[in-house]
Amino acid sequence: MPTLGIDLGGTFARAAVVDGAGKMLASAKVALAERSPAGVVETIAQAASEAVKAAGVPVSGCGVGAAAQIHKDSGVLSVAPNLGWRNVPLGALLKERLGQPVRVVNDLSAAAWGELHAGAGRGAQDLLVVFVGSGVGSAIIANGRLLDGAGGVAGELGHIKVVPGGRRCGCGELGCLEAYAGGHNLIAQTRELLASGNAPKVVELTGGDAARITPVTLEQAAEAGDAEAREVYERAARFLAVAVANQVTVLNPARLLLGGGVLTHCPGLRRHVVEGVQAWASQTAREGLLITEAELGDDSGLIGAALLAG
Ligand SMILES: [Zn+2]
Repeated sequence: MPTLGIDLGGTFARAAVVDGAGKMLASAKVALAERSPAGVVETIAQAASEAVKAAGVPVSGCGVGAAAQIHKDSGVLSVAPNLGWRNVPLGALLKERLGQPVRVVNDLSAAAWGELHAGAGRGAQDLLVVFVGSGVGSAIIANGRLLDGAGGVAGELGHIKVVPGGRRCGCGELGCLEAYAGGHNLIAQTRELLASGNAPKVVELTGGDAARITPVTLEQAAEAGDAEAREVYERAARFLAVAVANQVTVLNPARLLLGGGVLTHCPGLRRHVVEGVQAWASQTAREGLLITEAELGDDSGLIGAALLAG
């Protein structure tokens, strides 16, 4: 029987009815009017009901991919920065509201599962997915199984320490990879450059308006020869590339899938990561490694969440 997949973002909930082969039969998207747990549960229920109605088939089971750290057995969102939540029992609340068994996983885990079964990971048993968007994350499929760790937070690549005691990360700790190479922090560092008055290309690209800075601004300023921008950009690129290369060395995946808005829109950064893996992952781990794009785009998490519920 088809299952229901939910993608819970910071501003909307998407729902899809997905068959056992990973084909989406229907989907719906509803904006989050308010971010209280009760309000979000109602929004999810509304999106789910629209998707089920459009598909015209019954569903059995619901999977949720959420941008959060999730305690794997209880479905409790320990930390969901986009929603400002701590310790919200989303799985239990949704189970009661939908009258379905509910499984809640991290959004990247859901995306990796979707790519494994219906996207660029098909046929692989060992898959490493790295997304760089506003944050940095990874998900790991080992021997055909999702690696979730004892507490459910395995694969948090964004929070490995690259500069112990360094920049403050959104997670509250110091010196995480994400504090240097995540999209939010690429923007924050570029704003710092603009404020310092030592980054003429950043001024040129934005007209001096900090609100117009994106991660692409930093890449373009660096490539145009702005010395201070280049320093910040190359530091971020190097940290990211070394981290992914080391992850390849440790995990020996058959495929490395790269995705997320920053890697999509900053081709230079993506190239640094690919070249870094080719240069710095151990030779034995990178033999036969295929580096490719995530294939299902925005739908990978929806499809994966639904398949995880099956
Ligand atoms: Zn962190």
